[in-house]
Amino acid sequence: MVVVLKRGYRKEDLDDFVSWVKKDLGMKPSVVVGEFTSIVGLIGDESKVDINLIEAKEIVESVKRITEPYKLVNRKFHPEDTVVEIAGQKFGGKHFSVIAGPCAVESEEQILSIAKSVKQAGATLMRGGAWKPRSSPYAFQGKREEGLELLKKARKETGLPIVSEIMDASHIELFKDVDVFQVGARNMQNFELLKALGRTDKPILLKRGLANTIKELLMSAEYILKEGNPNVILCERGIRTFETYTRNTLDLAAVALLKQLTHLPVIVDPSHASGVASLVAPMSLASAASGADGLIIEVHNDPQNAKCDGAQSITPEQFETIMQSINVIMPIVGKRKI
Ligand code: PEP
Ligand code: MN
Repeated sequence: MVVVLKRGYRKEDLDDFVSWVKKDLGMKPSVVVGEFTSIVGLIGDESKVDINLIEAKEIVESVKRITEPYKLVNRKFHPEDTVVEIAGQKFGGKHFSVIAGPCAVESEEQILSIAKSVKQAGATLMRGGAWKPRSSPYAFQGKREEGLELLKKARKETGLPIVSEIMDASHIELFKDVDVFQVGARNMQNFELLKALGRTDKPILLKRGLANTIKELLMSAEYILKEGNPNVILCERGIRTFETYTRNTLDLAAVALLKQLTHLPVIVDPSHASGVASLVAPMSLASAASGADGLIIEVHNDPQNAKCDGAQSITPEQFETIMQSINVIMPIVGKRKI
């Protein structure tokens, strides 16, 4: 970290600052006095330092970080890919996995029918929301506990591990039989939830917030790893832009960049990223080509009558075609076929 001092500072203030840096920040200061500008280099673990505390000091003109504020998720300190494994299904490294299923669990018949067809088409895990974060309190909120029971039934029938969104830390016990906790876009910065999930050992699918930067996504993952849970899969699901033809804008550069910045697996949700069923196939293929480690796709047996996100839901037949095309791309991106 480099701290630039204001011109005309008093010697006593610099001495105070230097001892504060040592004592309170635990960093080693190195002062360089110039004719016009003086700087203090701060040597030590920058990731643990709150830059705002330094900026608030009267003597400080500006502060610049040399290294990133995230450490545990940083590829610099962990060059090998992390592979997250869920009941034999793997994300990361040479492995590509596909999670498929409805936005929400609606009924036994619906979830069993979809689970069987996505399994047959080659999905490796199944999704289904039991608690739904809806913009309107009048919209379908999910079948809650009953939804989890139905997911378990579908897992029993198909063998597919289940992924479901958790919205509150008090539900952790209720989710004990769910294979993967999904943290939705709206909760990406629910830090108490992230900390609580970090204290479990279950894999976590962390979705990027609607208006969050790549750095903020990595900092949220850092919260989980800091608590001791290394099993995090990141998910790019589109961000809000000025565009209105699509629900969100799929940021594929984020996928390629995240793969450079972090060792964690990165997957894409082309369904929420586009909001349009006809765009799911091309965006799935583009995601695979961009180096993603997997996909999460909304599939419904009757999209036109879906209780949630019908416009972006594809049919099992369309899903099967995507799975076949994905396998053509796998060898090109150095991944094993699914
Ligand atoms: C979902 O996966 O159904 C969902 C609500 O996604 P997101 O949190 O990305 O909006
Ligand atoms: Mn949805």
